[in-house]
Amino acid sequence: MFKGILIEKDESGYRAGLKDIDESQLPDGDVTVRVSHSTLNYKDGLAITGKGPVVRKFPMVPGIDLVGTVEASSHHGYKPGDAVLLNGWGVGEGHWGGLAQKARLNGNWLVPLPASFTPQQAMSIGTAGYTAMLCVLALERHGVKPSDGEILVTGAAGGVGSVATAVLTKLGYTVVAVSGRPAEADYLKGLGAKEVLDRAQFSSPGKPLGKERWAGAVDVVGSHTLANVCATTKYRGVVTACGLAGGMDFPSSVAPFILRGVTLVGIDSVMCPTPDRLEAWRRLGCDLDIEKLGVISREIGLSEVMPFATKLLNGEVKGRVVVDVNR
Ligand code: NDP
Repeated sequence: MFKGILIEKDESGYRAGLKDIDESQLPDGDVTVRVSHSTLNYKDGLAITGKGPVVRKFPMVPGIDLVGTVEASSHHGYKPGDAVLLNGWGVGEGHWGGLAQKARLNGNWLVPLPASFTPQQAMSIGTAGYTAMLCVLALERHGVKPSDGEILVTGAAGGVGSVATAVLTKLGYTVVAVSGRPAEADYLKGLGAKEVLDRAQFSSPGKPLGKERWAGAVDVVGSHTLANVCATTKYRGVVTACGLAGGMDFPSSVAPFILRGVTLVGIDSVMCPTPDRLEAWRRLGCDLDIEKLGVISREIGLSEVMPFATKLLNGEVKGRVVVDVNR
């Protein structure tokens, strides 16, 4: 038996709770992992509360990321004792995930735990931080340089936003953070933001084009915010879109794209090919100040996951939440 969060759905409704689970219930897979840490990402919050249609099979163990040690493996790439890391691939949605003491997975989904991080540090970064790095890599790939001007980061006090702010600052970019929590301005400035703007400035319907300001952007909010970010991005600037914390719609016009040559880059971490994952984790090892992880993250035990999922969706959680599944 092992402990884990189990989401069930039947005639009596949708519910998530901490359960003792029999190992025989683990799904198919060629690698069995003794999990040490998982995390709470926005998507986990949606899955655990049932507020978004994330879970595709019941019962489900949520948790879109994990670190742990291989216990058994018939996969050529992994042997017992190896330290491994997993982000995405539909884990915690269609295949049992990381918020449990054991997981059985497809070895092709795993990457070795980078030597630069302890298990706890890797999960302080988690899927949110790895996605932030994918956004930074996309800005670089599209030629955005620190000398080009300010980079806007929306939802900045959340997981993706916090790591993006810290990484961009270390790389020499000037970061302007957007947040709905003025009380977190010192936190964001501590991560490197030069200025913190109120998210209310971005959340209402705006004009197709506004005054050009941003050389690039990392957007986790979507909806009017993404439309307004595109409308105020400089000629040939680059906007990376990875989230929907403010809504899934995109009420924009083509004006920023056809009149200013703005590039909108979509970022997906779930099905991202392994070489890109390895590169993102390698770069996190060089371009994120490890000491900032202590400020960005906090740790909870499995039994605290349910209340934290609700807080996360209410925008009340700062930075990242690491879950020690053995606590
Ligand atoms: P968090 O909950 O940690 O952060 C989201 C932040 O968005 C909040 O902290 C808040 O920041 C802001 N926010 C929340 N609600 C609203 C709202 N209604 N309007 C405007 N801003 C809002 O989530 P994550 O950082 O883990 O994820 C952020 C987004 O990115 C999510 O939508 C998630 O699904 C998506 N994501 C996508 C991935 C991909 O592969 N494409 C991978 C990982 C995440 P503040 O308080 O500073 O305003």
